[in-house]
Amino acid sequence: MHQDVKKVLVSPEAIEQRCRELGKQISDDYRRDGEIPVLVALLKGSVPFLAKLITYIDIDIEFDFMDVKSYEGTESIGDVRILKDLDRSIKGASILLVEDIVDTGRTLHEVSKLLLNKGAGRVKIVSLLDKPSRRVIPIEADYTGFVIPNEFVIGFGLDFNEKYRNLPYVGVLKDECYL
Ligand code: 5GP
Repeated sequence: MHQDVKKVLVSPEAIEQRCRELGKQISDDYRRDGEIPVLVALLKGSVPFLAKLITYIDIDIEFDFMDVKSYEGTESIGDVRILKDLDRSIKGASILLVEDIVDTGRTLHEVSKLLLNKGAGRVKIVSLLDKPSRRVIPIEADYTGFVIPNEFVIGFGLDFNEKYRNLPYVGVLKDECYL
């Protein structure tokens, strides 16, 4: 375990197993609906999750990346600014948004709205983690890996000051790391 980590919340084995289950469920659902999903991963936190998840999806898919930043000004809270947009048109596409964690729900709410405005046919959400106790906007992922308590987590894509994204598990940092 990394020296800065206080405890592991989700082990590498649990992540692997859950990605296998989610991959099967997603494949079954889109196969049944006869749709080829375009997985849209939000940079950078969802990259390890996307990479693992897609190895367990056994239907044709496409994937693309978006990078957004939430406005933190008091007037425009909730809005997002696009730092990297999608590479091509998504008119009529069936989008599966891939996120690392749903916290307040603001990011997914805004990005879903934005994708629908760009002409997406439908937008579903898969998130590795869910912190329901922090929700401000009532939005739920269609597929969730793990529901976790209200703790700041790092690892498997999630960072603190850009560090710890490469940890193979999701964990909680020691208190002194925040000083
Ligand atoms: P929301 O818009 O749902 O409040 O926030 C989603 C984003 O906040 C996530 O994509 C992630 O970047 C960040 N975030 C929320 N909770 C955590 C957490 O516990 N750890 C880390 N590293 N990032 C978080």
